[in-house]
Amino acid sequence: MIKTENLCKTYGKGEGIVAALKNASLTIENGELAAIIGKSGSGKTTLLNLLGCLDTATEGKAFYNDTEITSLGDSKAADFRLRHIGFVFQFFDLLPELTAAENILLPARLAKKTADNYREIVDSLGLSERVNHYPSQLSGGQQQRVAIARAMINDPEVLLCDEPTGNLDERSGKEVMDLLIKMNREQNKTILIVTHNPEIAAQCGRTIEIADGMIV
Ligand code: ADP
Ligand code: MG
Repeated sequence: MIKTENLCKTYGKGEGIVAALKNASLTIENGELAAIIGKSGSGKTTLLNLLGCLDTATEGKAFYNDTEITSLGDSKAADFRLRHIGFVFQFFDLLPELTAAENILLPARLAKKTADNYREIVDSLGLSERVNHYPSQLSGGQQQRVAIARAMINDPEVLLCDEPTGNLDERSGKEVMDLLIKMNREQNKTILIVTHNPEIAAQCGRTIEIADGMIV
């Protein structure tokens, strides 16, 4: 279960202060597939980054089961993220100088895990013919599938996806969405998807709306 209590994030200070997230309290059960929707600038990425230990909250708390992630400190937060959370970004964020295989295996190397599930993940994402390619040699849809494989390699409980289809054509976007739904159904992954696309939100079990930094 993911739970937040009055989570707040402000950027900057003085006249330039921006309250990006205001008192966000929400609960997400294990195995949920939820969409986070809202206008550009409403605080979706801020919320996802806080839930993913990629940024620190200004106030409030967030928990993964009994672990309070908001009080972990940088190095423990990084380690927690590596072991429990997979991230998928709009622009894939693959390392260009590494092959697909090396990108996928990187989190396992960092966590000193053996990645016994590598073959299975690569096959299920339809990547077996492409693992020795570099990101620049792959289509957007293939790059995003590599990013999903990388997110899955340490077998996290939670996948956090920030506009995962936002940079893909309709067909590749649908493929990526179908894969995320499959991981939710077959592997019981808890998945949060930030999206602008009502069709994607409609495929999720629940929609969380954010407006002006507040959960509606
Ligand atoms: P969304 O993902 O919904 O488009 P964000 O969470 O990225 O929105 O941004 C929420 C608000 O916080 C926006 O007003 C944005 O300009 C501001 N913001 C986001 N990141 C930063 C930052 N690093 N520094 C200052 N302001 C930021
Ligand atoms: Mg965003």
